[in-house]
Amino acid sequence: MQAIDADVVVCGGGVAGTMAAVAAARQGASVVLVERYGFLGGNATAGAVAQFNSWQTANGRRVVAGLANEVVERLARYGAAGAHETFVMSTGHKMDRVPYGPEVLKLVLDDLVTESGVKPLLHASLLDVATEGRRIASLRVMTKGGLLTLRPKVLIDTSGDIDALQRAGARFLELDEGEALQPATMMFRFGPIDFARFDALSPAEVHTLAQRGYAEGQLARAALHASRDPDSADAWFNISRLGIDATDAFALGAAEIEGRRQAWRAAGFLHQNVPGCEAGQLRAFATQVGVRETRRVEGDHILTAEELLQPVQFPDAIAAGAYPIDIHPAAGGALDYQALGDDHAYQIPYRSLIPTAFDNALVAGRGISATHKALAAIRVMTISMAVGQAAGTAAAMAAIAANGPGDTAQVRAVDVSALRASLLADGACLA
Ligand SMILES: Cc1cc2nc3c(=O)[nH]c(=O)nc-3n(C[C@H](O)[C@H](O)[C@H](O)COP(=O)(O)OP(=O)(O)OC[C@H]3O[C@@H](n4cnc5c(N)ncnc54)[C@H](O)[C@@H]3O)c2cc1C
Repeated sequence: MQAIDADVVVCGGGVAGTMAAVAAARQGASVVLVERYGFLGGNATAGAVAQFNSWQTANGRRVVAGLANEVVERLARYGAAGAHETFVMSTGHKMDRVPYGPEVLKLVLDDLVTESGVKPLLHASLLDVATEGRRIASLRVMTKGGLLTLRPKVLIDTSGDIDALQRAGARFLELDEGEALQPATMMFRFGPIDFARFDALSPAEVHTLAQRGYAEGQLARAALHASRDPDSADAWFNISRLGIDATDAFALGAAEIEGRRQAWRAAGFLHQNVPGCEAGQLRAFATQVGVRETRRVEGDHILTAEELLQPVQFPDAIAAGAYPIDIHPAAGGALDYQALGDDHAYQIPYRSLIPTAFDNALVAGRGISATHKALAAIRVMTISMAVGQAAGTAAAMAAIAANGPGDTAQVRAVDVSALRASLLADGACLA
């Protein structure tokens, strides 16, 4: 069986994983990026989420930049990013967002990866992981050409579901009593829309229409949440709701089927009832249901909602955010939502990226060490990209430091002030 050595192996090419891989490669590390699909992006492309939320505090203080910003600039060059716009959530909270075209995002991520020298291993699904004590020794992945072994100095698990560390035997955090995993959603593309009329609907009119559709069983969620495609008269709608554990294979498959049914019914409701949508029809389903939450690793620090709300200033902060705590109920109903003050930003500590069980592994994206409630804030793509950039930079530092015979990379030995300085030099915001 073919075996490949790399400084850093990144498992999962969503936005967190792609940023991690690019950041590590730009630091000079050799990087293999493993992704089960033939394209990168995860929820951002396969899930067609279509808007990057929350770049700044409500009063305009920037909290996410760096590689995430570069993604938007590159999308704009392809004509596939909208301008930063203020968006009023169904809760009344104002937030800035950037709508984008999910198909073109695939190209942008391709460009970033190839230009930085990352070795993309697409159409490759994780099979299992071999460990030696507290070290990840190797991963086996299933590819078109058969099984392949990857031997990383440092593994970054950005598979969303944290499959690699689960296979390796890491510990995970449990839901507290009364908590449930956030639901998955089948996004769908609908158009053409007369946006002059659709956007002119007042929040009260949207609320009345959405409540009616929900009460009549045509909408699985009482919302008409949409993100406009930047270069057409279509929008991606986020209306379905699928309360599952997406690591359960049968439940995930059933959710794909039910999600398409919910999307079809919702498209019919839009067409028949919503001003501006009369000429529209369902154009496409997302490639897969978007998954908000599954496994959260047990890390050296467990980030809590209280720490975000205070907010605690962490000496090892490697990213910042301003997205509110936003919990979707598993079925129907309103959001469980906790808005932040106008200048409120919080930080994410490096220790929340380090799994307690291993010395040469990091996590980034929606599986980092955080409570269910804290994850409901930090899961958005802007913050996932910022944390991914930090994980990639740290992994490269750890791997490159282990350059002597017999040296082993230690993620806890990374000089955090040098990591923070490097991230700031690369345009990231840490507060
Ligand atoms: C419906 C929905 C709406 C959302 N709305 C917004 C929004 O409006 N704005 C916002 O900013 N965020 C939003 N989010 C949150 C955001 O999209 C996600 O939290 C974020 O994209 C997570 O990125 P990630 O890279 O951590 O994980 P993922 O996007 O889940 O990426 C994981 C990657 O790993 C790959 N992978 C998984 N398992 C394996 C394996 N075993 N082998 C190989 N590859 C594997 C996957 O194919 C995927 O590419 C939304 C999420 C959902 C689901």
